[in-house]
Amino acid sequence: MTYEARRHAYLDGAFESRAVHAGQYPDEHNGSVSMPIYQSATFERPVVLAGGYDYSRIANPTRSALEECLANLEGGARASATASGMAAITTTVLTLCRTGGHVVLPDNTYGGTWDLFSRLLPQWGMGFTTVATSDLDAVRAAIGPNTQLIWCESPSNPNLDISDIGAIAAIAHEAGALCVVDGTFASPFLQQPLALGADVVIHAATKFLGGHSDLNGGAIVSSTPELGERLAYAVGAFGTMAPAMDSWLVLRGIKTLPVRMRQICANAMRVAEHLQAHPRVVRVNYPGLVDHPGHELAKRQMSDFGGVVSFVVDGDIEATARVCAGTELFTLAVSLGGIESLIQHPAKMTHCTTPGTEVAVEDSLLRLAVGLESADELIADLDAALGLD
Ligand code: PLP
Repeated sequence: MTYEARRHAYLDGAFESRAVHAGQYPDEHNGSVSMPIYQSATFERPVVLAGGYDYSRIANPTRSALEECLANLEGGARASATASGMAAITTTVLTLCRTGGHVVLPDNTYGGTWDLFSRLLPQWGMGFTTVATSDLDAVRAAIGPNTQLIWCESPSNPNLDISDIGAIAAIAHEAGALCVVDGTFASPFLQQPLALGADVVIHAATKFLGGHSDLNGGAIVSSTPELGERLAYAVGAFGTMAPAMDSWLVLRGIKTLPVRMRQICANAMRVAEHLQAHPRVVRVNYPGLVDHPGHELAKRQMSDFGGVVSFVVDGDIEATARVCAGTELFTLAVSLGGIESLIQHPAKMTHCTTPGTEVAVEDSLLRLAVGLESADELIADLDAALGLD
């Protein structure tokens, strides 16, 4: 069987097979098994005409392979690969909203998303209302006559709130709005927002899709060809596309997404259960814990609970910072979704622009991105850091 035939035969196969093969094809000349990196800004044309691969800002074969793979894994009509998660978010919001428009925004969301909505979009006359999107009545009440989007982040950053994607999409559609889901914390392996009813799913591919903390990337996947076409055009027009080299790194990361996620979820569950019993821990946020308010919903809309755990330390902001700086195996660094475990202090780091706002996070909250090290050693490292004071 040729590589091309195998790729086609498994396009509707199991997630694991599609993660390895979808979108990729060998080069015609040498039959490489790994998708080549087309590190070329422009392409020689057979005739004097635009279209096809003519300029890499508009389309590049390595990026196209990633886009086909992403669309396949998310069950979407079309995907665009972007330079970062924020490039995906900015492109999506600016394309789907108009001046004077209004967005319903989660009251727990990535700090960069908050900065975009609160500091930049008001310049274009766009408004927003923040609500706990886990509360469907609050979502309904936040909708106004100009609501164009309901933004949903599930699980949310950094509190791991779970929102009912299908119900929120239905509320959006009833109001003539679109539902966009930031699915970064789950990855397409654990959650399929388009199948639940969302119109667009975005990812920071920097995280689980890339998986190795060695790139910035993003993804926009649309449920319909029309939305996909508008967003792909915008990515080319804004110039927010992913470079060829980074597209290739994300493609390589995706091949091991299922195996990484399985082990990361198992490690995260062990860490969350251990922290829950720790005397210096006030609360653990992890949807895999049975007493998490979104546990039952997460069980319905996710196949596992992810690799991010956050917890509240019994102590003030400075004592919490000391715990954060006290680990050895957990690296003190922002980001998540890589093979190495990271720890960070949202109030002082990723969410440092939110204190005093409606999306403020608790001072004593720490966020863990659990990786692939030994769960026993990760737990011992946290115990040592929690015992420092
Ligand atoms: N969305 C979520 C949930 C994130 O956690 C992040 C980054 O941490 C982003 C979007 C932005 O991604 P990037 O840093 O690649 O722009």
